[in-house]
Amino acid sequence: MDARRNSHWLSEAIAPDEENSPSLHGDISADVCIVGGGFTGLWTALALKQQEPTLDVVILEKDVCGAGASGRNAGYVLSWWAKFASLEKICGGEEAVRLAVASAEAVNAIGDFCRQEGIDAHYRRDGWLWAATSDQQVGSWNGTVEAAERYQQHPFERWSPEEVVARSGTTRYQAGIFEPGAASVQPAALARGLRRSALARGVRIFENTPLTKLKGAAKPEVITPKGRVKAAKLVLAMNAWGIRFAAIRRAIVVVSCDMIMTEAMPERIKEIGWPGDLLITDSRMLINAQCTTRDGRIGFCKGGMNGRLPYGSHVGTKLDGPSPLREDVISWLAWTYPKLGRVRPASSWMGPIDRSKDGLPHFGALEGRPNVFHAVGYSGNGVGPSYLGGKILASLALEKQDEWSGCSLVRPLGRDFPPEPIRYFGGKLVRSAIARTDAAADKGKSPGPLTRYLAGFAPAGLSPFKGQKT
Ligand SMILES: Cc1cc2nc3c(=O)[nH]c(=O)nc-3n(C[C@H](O)[C@H](O)[C@H](O)COP(=O)(O)OP(=O)(O)OC[C@H]3O[C@@H](n4cnc5c(N)ncnc54)[C@H](O)[C@@H]3O)c2cc1C
Repeated sequence: MDARRNSHWLSEAIAPDEENSPSLHGDISADVCIVGGGFTGLWTALALKQQEPTLDVVILEKDVCGAGASGRNAGYVLSWWAKFASLEKICGGEEAVRLAVASAEAVNAIGDFCRQEGIDAHYRRDGWLWAATSDQQVGSWNGTVEAAERYQQHPFERWSPEEVVARSGTTRYQAGIFEPGAASVQPAALARGLRRSALARGVRIFENTPLTKLKGAAKPEVITPKGRVKAAKLVLAMNAWGIRFAAIRRAIVVVSCDMIMTEAMPERIKEIGWPGDLLITDSRMLINAQCTTRDGRIGFCKGGMNGRLPYGSHVGTKLDGPSPLREDVISWLAWTYPKLGRVRPASSWMGPIDRSKDGLPHFGALEGRPNVFHAVGYSGNGVGPSYLGGKILASLALEKQDEWSGCSLVRPLGRDFPPEPIRYFGGKLVRSAIARTDAAADKGKSPGPLTRYLAGFAPAGLSPFKGQKT
């Protein structure tokens, strides 16, 4: 399938006549081989080249760079402050503050990199409104804000309900807090720009070149359909597709995210009184997120509603292409902005999200393979954090003992989710319990005890929701 079908962003960022990088034919060797040409793989390659410009770095991408989640997301460039309570639990307060501050600096660093490299990724410092659309959701952020305040950290502004309504342009949002440091990007333009920067630094990129098999423990070897790469170090930056490896599979569940994008309608956005200058999410378990583009389109994203959970080790193309939930996502946009009404979107798409139990990624070496490193579990907040992921993976691959290789997110992969078939069928039960919980909250009701029990198995998401267990 043409990668441009995977999102409006990709169709905008990849010119029809743009040439792909070659696919791999034959056997080669490299100092570091990276599998996956999304943000994680590309930032890792750039971090490696920055530290050791002569290093021979190869990227293998099954499609084209940016065709995965990096070119399909909602473009929120967020810090880890919303995950501070989980960070504190994993790392302790001091390290949690260090990582949260570093993640906020990463948001700035991405903008700086775009300016320095001439990447037009539509980078805007919009800020993020973390809001509530029901009484039950109000205060979902309290635990996070209080945890940060215990360390004299104040990344969020508390807004009055009036300000929330005025800035969001809809009375659906009843309350919220604002993180001014967040930014937005055209994600595929960023991914394609990083690809150009990596090529300019001598990174060898092979597109349409899937890893089909991994061989070797101490000396990794990647097998592809028409060649192989022997590398001193290997980085698996495959996001949800990493579940082909058993150790990764037990540490994450793969859920969908469905998105629509309207035609450009800047005048209509103004008419309905929506300033359109913020990133906004609600606090339901199946999150709603919205954004506007530079040319005045509305993007609306619905997390986890699509029941296409992958079975076993195979994500494949199950979550590629147009969204089967397009009509539902249109309804959510119309519900959020009643004055806008039902709009016909110009396009829809979907993509996979790699949810870890605590909503934070795992980095490290695969068990029994000391020279194979992974990054997985961004849980819907990877656009900003993958910049740090690149630093962490580069330090691991270069065997550096520093604040990145030693950070607390370099941790063993958990055995947090059951094997098949419990994983698949249990996942379906939990997902529908979560949907019922959200629907009950919308009606001001509490779900029944069985629904509450099942929904309690939900892994963490982009931001904490009430009743979340980590
Ligand atoms: C619809 C949607 C909305 C989202 N919204 C946001 C958001 O607003 N903000 C945010 O922070 N995060 C968001 N996310 C999550 C975010 O996009 C990801 O966390 C981030 O892009 C992860 O980058 P990555 O490089 O790790 O993964 P990817 O970009 O998915 O890269 C993995 C790459 O590996 C390649 N690959 C897979 N298997 C193989 C193989 N066998 N051989 C070779 N290559 C392979 C894939 O083709 C892919 O290009 C969203 C995700 C989706 C799907």
